[in-house]
Amino acid sequence: MKTYAIATIPGDGIGKEVVPAGRQVLEAIADSSSGFRFAFENFDWGGDYYRQHGVMMPADGLDSLRHKDAILFGSAGDPDIPDHITLWGLRLKICQGFDQYANVRPTRILPGIDAPLKRCKPEDLNWVIVRENSEGEYSGVGGRVHQGHPIEAATDVTMMTRAGVERVMRFAFKLAQSRPRKLLTVITKSNAQRHAMVMWDEIALQISKEFPDVTWDKEIVDAATARMVNRPATLDTLVATNLHADILSDLAAALAGSLGIAPTGNIDPERRYPSMFEPIHGSAFDIMGKGLANPVGTFWSCVMLLEHLGEFDAAQRLMGAIEQVTANPTLHTGDLGGKATTAQVTQAVCNLLGTAEQRLAA
Ligand code: ATP
Repeated sequence: MKTYAIATIPGDGIGKEVVPAGRQVLEAIADSSSGFRFAFENFDWGGDYYRQHGVMMPADGLDSLRHKDAILFGSAGDPDIPDHITLWGLRLKICQGFDQYANVRPTRILPGIDAPLKRCKPEDLNWVIVRENSEGEYSGVGGRVHQGHPIEAATDVTMMTRAGVERVMRFAFKLAQSRPRKLLTVITKSNAQRHAMVMWDEIALQISKEFPDVTWDKEIVDAATARMVNRPATLDTLVATNLHADILSDLAAALAGSLGIAPTGNIDPERRYPSMFEPIHGSAFDIMGKGLANPVGTFWSCVMLLEHLGEFDAAQRLMGAIEQVTANPTLHTGDLGGKATTAQVTQAVCNLLGTAEQRLAA
């Protein structure tokens, strides 16, 4: 029987609650499948590790992960540690170290979720946002001079490479091609950013020629926010730069009902390294340790993890169980207006998955 090696990194805040819940659900899906098992290894990296060791993860941390089949991540963020340290010291170190250049963020309004767009039918909002995840505005190129003096200056340079843009465009066109509508919207800002974004547009046009069956258009990022709200059904797959997609995907998550539901995958499409799956929410210190975190974003991330491993039947069954649970308002957590706990939602999903014996008997 196949055994997949999975690294779990809960990180900080509610990550410590939703990642164990995700592991429980993955164990349940393996128990109810005859074809595969998981071997988990947990890593206690994050804010507490930083307080003890002065770093968010050990220097050889990537070597401990390198041979895993996938990584399930929680969140990084600590009220006592500057955000740029928690982000660059852990999550980005893994994303960049493993060249996970495509960040994939599906958004749908799941059954039973009261989404804020009252004119939007649930079937009108079914998007996947592809975020360039390795360079662009978050390349880390820049610096500060004259710190603390009146002449202090700081730069963050957007770094776009032809190879970097080509590979994420090709990934997005391929993804759009695999979805029923074969529709891609390229998000841009080439009207104002007249170097990197103009190259971005040129490369989109060039790559589009490889995908004649994909219908595509361009949308300026600010106009895209209005289009997401006013005409959601005109969108399907979107591709955007690191910064633009970061913002658009939080908007997408809010339009789908809650930050607590949305999943993401940091993918190395060439599979040279493990890919990493995580809910898009942060550490949510206001609710941590109370058992109130919505684990659905993590469960949906587990669906993406299973798809990445090629376990499509298991992925579909887990998504089905998640949808049955969201359809039941008594199983909604506080972010969705309900009273359910993380443990209750997790148990409900596990119960729906059953065991292999129960499935055979059914
Ligand atoms: P960070 O600084 O790590 O990004 P944050 O607390 O600023 O974290 P988020 O955690 O992304 O931001 O979310 C903002 C708020 O949304 C939280 O304070 C919390 O109230 C709510 N929230 C986010 N995720 C969840 C969840 N999974 N379940 C319930 N509520 C959530």
